[in-house]
Amino acid sequence: AGFAQLGLAEPILRAIADAGYTTPTPIQLQAIPQVLTGGDLLAGAQTGTGKTAGFTLPLLHLLQGRPGKNKAGQPRCLILTPTRELAAQVEESVQTYGKYLPLKSMVMFGGVGINPQVAQLKKPLDILVATPGRLLDHANQKTVDLSAVEILVLDEADRMLDMGFIRDIKRVLALLPKQRQNLLFSATFSDEIKALADGLLHNPGFVEV
Ligand code: AMP
Repeated sequence: AGFAQLGLAEPILRAIADAGYTTPTPIQLQAIPQVLTGGDLLAGAQTGTGKTAGFTLPLLHLLQGRPGKNKAGQPRCLILTPTRELAAQVEESVQTYGKYLPLKSMVMFGGVGINPQVAQLKKPLDILVATPGRLLDHANQKTVDLSAVEILVLDEADRMLDMGFIRDIKRVLALLPKQRQNLLFSATFSDEIKALADGLLHNPGFVEV
């Protein structure tokens, strides 16, 4: 099966072809149809499996198919990652796969000046990729508004817990609308991850590679 059979919109298929991908990886074959249903998902996948495209491609498809407000500082999709390196990589993937779509993305992480991020948040935004601490800084100073988030992704959730982000994650969750789609990606499933998933996901699909 190729990407075209997965039901992704033509501008996304063109970007995938430009990237040189011909065949979906196993996690993509499993995760993409599940995410496209609009339901929650628990996914077990390591780095290198193509997991990033596994959630990015279908979330781009869902967002482009819905009328979006595209308002400044008000993302429709929030992707949380444990590190700035991963955040930057994920946002690059969003740009690559979304290059033929009118969706806007940005990345924010700590350890760098906050003012350029504040300036960027004054422009239209659909997809925000962030590390938890800096996101909370912005939420506290009201430079970001999370009340319009339709899709939440926790990427490498096990690493976020290992790095002590559970309280920050819970604070972020409290700022999101109740009605939304949740995707949790993790390489491992500890009791702590299972507890997070239990509290976060509603009747989730499950995929694992
Ligand atoms: P990830 O596991 O998301 O970090 O992706 C690992 C690498 O696989 C990245 O460099 C992607 O560009 C690449 N990749 C993802 N999906 C595919 C695919 N279907 N075909 C070829 N390469 C891919």
